[in-house]
Amino acid sequence: MATVTLERRGNVAVITIDNPPVNGLSAAMRTGLEARLGECLDDSTVAAVVLAGAGRMFGGGADIREFNTPAAAEEPVLPTLIDRVEAADKPIVIAIHGVAAGGALELALGCHYRVAAKGARVGLPEVTLGIVPGAGGTQRLPRLIGAEAALDMIVSGTLIPAERAHELGLVDRLVEGDATAAAVEFAAQASGVRRTAELTENIAAAKNDPELFDRYRKKMARRARGLIAPYACLECVEAAVNMPFDEGRAFERATFKRCVESDQSKALRHAFFAERQATKIADVPKDTPVKTIERAAIIGCGTMGGGIAMNFANAGIPVRVLETAADRLEAGLALIAKNYAATVAKGRLDQAAMDRRMALIEGTTDYADLADADIVIEAAFEDMAVKKEIFGALDAATPPDTILATNTSTLDIDEIARATSRPEKVMGTHFFSPANVMRLMENVRGAATDKETLATVMGLAKRIGKVGVLVGVCDGFVGNRMLYAYSRQANFLLEEGALPQQVDKAIYDFGFPMGPFAMGDLAGLDIGWAVRKARAATRPPDLRYSPIADRICEMGRFGQKTKAGWYRYEDGSRTPVPDPEIEALIVSVAAELGIERRDISEQEIVERCIYPMINEGAKILQEGLAQRASDIDVVWLYGYGFPRHRGGPMYYADSVGVKTVYEAMVRLHDTHGDWLEPAPLLEELAKSGRGFGDL
Ligand code: NAD
Repeated sequence: MATVTLERRGNVAVITIDNPPVNGLSAAMRTGLEARLGECLDDSTVAAVVLAGAGRMFGGGADIREFNTPAAAEEPVLPTLIDRVEAADKPIVIAIHGVAAGGALELALGCHYRVAAKGARVGLPEVTLGIVPGAGGTQRLPRLIGAEAALDMIVSGTLIPAERAHELGLVDRLVEGDATAAAVEFAAQASGVRRTAELTENIAAAKNDPELFDRYRKKMARRARGLIAPYACLECVEAAVNMPFDEGRAFERATFKRCVESDQSKALRHAFFAERQATKIADVPKDTPVKTIERAAIIGCGTMGGGIAMNFANAGIPVRVLETAADRLEAGLALIAKNYAATVAKGRLDQAAMDRRMALIEGTTDYADLADADIVIEAAFEDMAVKKEIFGALDAATPPDTILATNTSTLDIDEIARATSRPEKVMGTHFFSPANVMRLMENVRGAATDKETLATVMGLAKRIGKVGVLVGVCDGFVGNRMLYAYSRQANFLLEEGALPQQVDKAIYDFGFPMGPFAMGDLAGLDIGWAVRKARAATRPPDLRYSPIADRICEMGRFGQKTKAGWYRYEDGSRTPVPDPEIEALIVSVAAELGIERRDISEQEIVERCIYPMINEGAKILQEGLAQRASDIDVVWLYGYGFPRHRGGPMYYADSVGVKTVYEAMVRLHDTHGDWLEPAPLLEELAKSGRGFGDL
């Protein structure tokens, strides 16, 4: 039940908003707050007012449950409410604990003073939803902390610690412990009101630095590539500097409206909700019992095992890593230490924290040491015989309710599960490389996996900072299966006339961090080569196959690690340099295959790479290997850098129109045949005028 309560502490009134889980500023909250505030202002025995939040934070901002409902527009809307707070003639002090984000921070900016508990975090994350703060935040923050510091916060959307906010002048008093008590004390002594909108000093300083905004535009160019909202945020701050407050406010409002209605914001909001939706499993209710995970174990401390172990240590969970021999173990642990040390060197982790984390990671070569593990994640060689042997050994070494998971990328999890006496406790946990950085975790449901195991692993993903998405067993699961479809066409495009740099540029311009060839060089071309060789015998002989990637590997070019792959690399540089040798190879392979090379446009490249990927996504949905189209979007946003402002591949299909995608697939299939047959679900949606979002 949402409430706004009023209590007296001496001559100070304390108004507390209580709307679990994050005190979202719903219509009821706003109305309640306005009414209580009115009572305080009318009461001559109240000298000052404190605003506080119940529960674990002051407030997360707008109530997302009200998004796209009429309640969001009900008066008092937030800008009106905040103006009333600021106009009050008694000091209003806000007590911030936990978090004050978005609209909640805008409310704080409209208060006359801000008191915050140490450890709290504040920020304006609106930009991540493709909008600008719309309740005066872009106008008040620069007046309080200066234009440049305000740009840093508003354009990035990151939350900053209260300690930093105090240094910047956003927080007037920083306290240990109870922020409300401290705010009451502060309010009782406050002499008069101090309205943020009337502050002039910082604005004058920014006016005297006319190049500030141009400098900032250049600084943000790379991160804000292709995006509307970060630039809209900048323009609002610019307006704060150059316009009177009321005009700036009107500019902010108009900008907010333009952004809210933009396709980018719709896509970003889709991504936000898709991520929340992905945590739900249709047949695993919220109250499904979960196993407590107190200790974990990892089999294999190579590239992936080491990274996975770090996730547990980072979350404070003790983890044991098992290797085949002492020297391998030593090498694996040394690599983990080196990774942590690099973070310490960059100033993103302190030495004491690194030491604490390293102390949580223990090595062993003996299965007997795994007897107390609640979950084991296997990340050994990608070989069925190896995995089966390991799972047999784990079955014998651990209690019967220990969860046994595998990080396999390609092998059949049900077959691995059959090597144990507890297939219901076996599933896949597919991490992405580098496993300590990439946030996606494809949680693979085996035929026998029980609900408790699924619920436990989905919860665990969150606890170790990952975004878990449930997928089914198939070759490549969701992400890599679609990636195959995408990179296959990228390779064919080379034969038909494109060059790697041209394909990569088109995909980069679409919004990916890099194109398929630069990505291949980064990941290492030998991995895919090994998989292709292992599967050569079962490759469909009637379907087109591009030999270029194999030829490149035969030349010993495995990507960045050998300083040559699809591109070449100068010593110590990760910048791909187009290589005439590769161009010659591509031209000669095309000639061998009898393909006449032609000019290929950027648009064709994008359609040819992205549409077949969507088509594969449609097959995955139809086969029931993903629960919903938006889960596929989450996989691609977090595992492969699909541009978030396009919402993910399936959302993107809806935004260009499934019919358009279907017709393009029909055309591509007619021209190029192989691999491009439209999926039945794509056809069905196109013909019935529906989208993936309607499923
Ligand atoms: P890797 O070769 O870097 O590491 C494998 C480690 O496992 C080695 O240190 C090896 O000594 C150890 N090992 C081998 N057999 C073992 C056994 N019987 N018992 C204990 N340890 C053993 O390989 P990787 O890249 O870390 O891949 C590990 C697994 O993760 C594979 O199944 C792979 O398909 C999967 N995977 C890899 C990536 C990636 O990008 N590298 C991404 C997702 C999943």
